[in-house]
Amino acid sequence: MYWEKEIETISPEELKTLQQERLKLTLQRAAQTPFYRKLFAQAKIKPELIKTKEDLQFIPPTTKEDLRSGFPFGFLSVPLTEVVRLHSSSGTTGTPTVIYHTASDLARWSNQVARSLFTVGVRKNDIFQNMMSYGLFTGGLGMHYGAERLGAMTIPIGAGNSKRQIWFLKHFKSTVIHIIPSYALLLSNLIKSEGLDPKTDFNVNIILLGAEPHSEGTRKRVEQAFGAKAYNSYGLSEMNGPGVAFECGYQTGMHLWEDYYLVEIVNPKILTPCQPGELGEIILTTINREATPILRYRTKDLAFYYQEPCPCGRTHLRISRIQGRADDMFIFRGVNIFPNQIETVLMNIPEVGANYRIILSREDYRDIMRIEVEIKPELFAGELPKLERLRERITNELRAEILVTPQVVLVEPGTLPTQEGKAIRLIDKRKL
Ligand SMILES: [Zn+2]
Repeated sequence: MYWEKEIETISPEELKTLQQERLKLTLQRAAQTPFYRKLFAQAKIKPELIKTKEDLQFIPPTTKEDLRSGFPFGFLSVPLTEVVRLHSSSGTTGTPTVIYHTASDLARWSNQVARSLFTVGVRKNDIFQNMMSYGLFTGGLGMHYGAERLGAMTIPIGAGNSKRQIWFLKHFKSTVIHIIPSYALLLSNLIKSEGLDPKTDFNVNIILLGAEPHSEGTRKRVEQAFGAKAYNSYGLSEMNGPGVAFECGYQTGMHLWEDYYLVEIVNPKILTPCQPGELGEIILTTINREATPILRYRTKDLAFYYQEPCPCGRTHLRISRIQGRADDMFIFRGVNIFPNQIETVLMNIPEVGANYRIILSREDYRDIMRIEVEIKPELFAGELPKLERLRERITNELRAEILVTPQVVLVEPGTLPTQEGKAIRLIDKRKL
């Protein structure tokens, strides 16, 4: 059942030994980089004295701003001649960040993704249609090489161009797709509008959702639309990209591969360790990478971890789906709100369609939250009082979750703008 059984079901003691060996190497590599050499000197850290995961707390965390300040070579620990690829943020909003990979870094990353794909049931005989964009963004290439490593036939179709996606799904009978969740819902509607049924006219049985945080309700909708299992995963370009953590067949939390990363989940304000079930920020240290070692990276992603062992037998730490980003939180009339809380409420209401958006504005010094919600077409045929009752119900359910009262506006399907990429769910006009 396991592809890398020894490592996936490793005992806590063996894992600890492995992590300490790899941490030692990582610290030696970090000491070769301009950024960490300076940091160790300034903070008077002797890297050879940092031996265990617990000792990591003596190292100040690394932030996205640090990565930017280190552009272009501040985090590079090998001669440039050893580097075979870089991935970089686009740099359209400020200085980009850049991650370098040696050939063996890329081989390990492919292995990490292949292991993840095997975990959700992808096999050599699968046909994998990769609907993520290729290029500097890691989602496309990262998953591509993992699928090839596993031996699946991989179609590098990239993002967008729905008509072509549908044509390939039909002619090559793709069994696995990698797709942004909001786009999966959009695509299933487009398939239906062509007179086809995503459940019966195609062969998709595994859907890999990525690149966008989403709620359990959204996952269920994607699964129902395609009649297939949809799996959640976690990755970020600073930590390679896809394959950092992946669900298994049980779909209860994601296994974070602890032979690749040391993971901490901490209170984002004071950085103290969280208890199981307690929401905190994920902090990651690479321990299986040569070219760009990163120590205690503050991901800004919020999740909690499970203490109970997973019935699948894998021993690597299980984290919850990402509940939000420390950056995404907005403050509305003094209340801290994550867009994901709103999505969770909406996607559990059966009458609600696939699309919604949140618009924040300010009128007469007062903050207004307007939530536009597409609802199923048949509801517009009904009587007005019925629609008004639905609007009230949605408003009440939202208020119970976010503790403030939004203005809910029900609109017909197709009214709100759609994207073939990540959906834009929140528009904050208060600062304009
Ligand atoms: Zn499991």
